[in-house]
Amino acid sequence: MTTHLTTSPTDAAARIRRGQIVAFPTETVYGLGADAFNPEAVRRIFAAKGRPSDNPLIVHIHDLAQVDDLAATVPDAAATLLEHFVPGPLTLILPKRPTVPDVVTGGLDTVGIRMPRHPVAQVFLEACACPVAAPSANRSGRPSPTTWEAVLADLDGRISCILKGDRTPVGLESTVVDCTEVPPLVLRAGAITLEQLQAVWPSVRLSPDVHTAKRRSPGTRYRHYAPRAHICLVDHPDEAEAAPDTAYIGLDAPSDTFGLHLACDDLDDYAHELFDFFRRCDAADIATIYAQRVQERGLGVALMDRLRRAAAG
Ligand code: AMP
Ligand code: MG
Repeated sequence: MTTHLTTSPTDAAARIRRGQIVAFPTETVYGLGADAFNPEAVRRIFAAKGRPSDNPLIVHIHDLAQVDDLAATVPDAAATLLEHFVPGPLTLILPKRPTVPDVVTGGLDTVGIRMPRHPVAQVFLEACACPVAAPSANRSGRPSPTTWEAVLADLDGRISCILKGDRTPVGLESTVVDCTEVPPLVLRAGAITLEQLQAVWPSVRLSPDVHTAKRRSPGTRYRHYAPRAHICLVDHPDEAEAAPDTAYIGLDAPSDTFGLHLACDDLDDYAHELFDFFRRCDAADIATIYAQRVQERGLGVALMDRLRRAAAG
């Protein structure tokens, strides 16, 4: 298969209508989409990524009216979160309608729904005129792609089309909140922080197993976000062993010389840069990446989650 590159959302959407799979930019990372109501098309996503079939996909919408096509009910907490954070980098887990194909939800009776706020994603999703099931557009286990070049590197020849956009602004995946639980549980930390969620729905909790391998959100069980290089977490750049084949990323600037290094301005910048830095390290044959730990507040919770999982690989 030749992977077609385009900047036209309507061209990309026409392919979705024909049952093909298409990568597209969002504010979090690039997604790999298919018509959520076409099980044959959705299966192609799993094949292209090498993704385990019990790992559910998030369904992307462009209009709140589509929630009722996917969800059987919308609990009060979900309605409030929708009002405050949607469109945006937030995925809500709701009870699914029987019409949502099992292949989308990994056989679960719930469905994850998200409406991106990225302008290109919005135009694309509207032109698709169907809900679009989409995980991140990387080979399973690799860091999520934040540029169209990263999508091409992982999936060239395996997908129909890449809708080219700029580098994604957030750089980490969406926050996933299970609204079928009382109180609602954060299954995956992301760009919308626990503090932001609690400001509008005070009882929201981090899932007790959010920091462990055994998690309710099936996909989060698997090895994730990992570059080929070994990841070593450090509290300060001085702990890192500088060498031509080692790299460093963190908030504090290192005084030694690494093969590659990046001192980030703040947590947002660290999140924005992380996956792209991992991929640049792989391209430069870096053997060990030293990544500086951050405080687990705000976006720091999501960053530490991704760093720990990358280090566990
Ligand atoms: P990705 O976009 O590649 O990060 O994959 C989507 C992720 O969303 C999955 O790995 C799950 O962690 C989460 N997810 C999607 N649907 C559900 C669901 N119904 N229940 C729990 N988690 C879900
Ligand atoms: Mg993913």
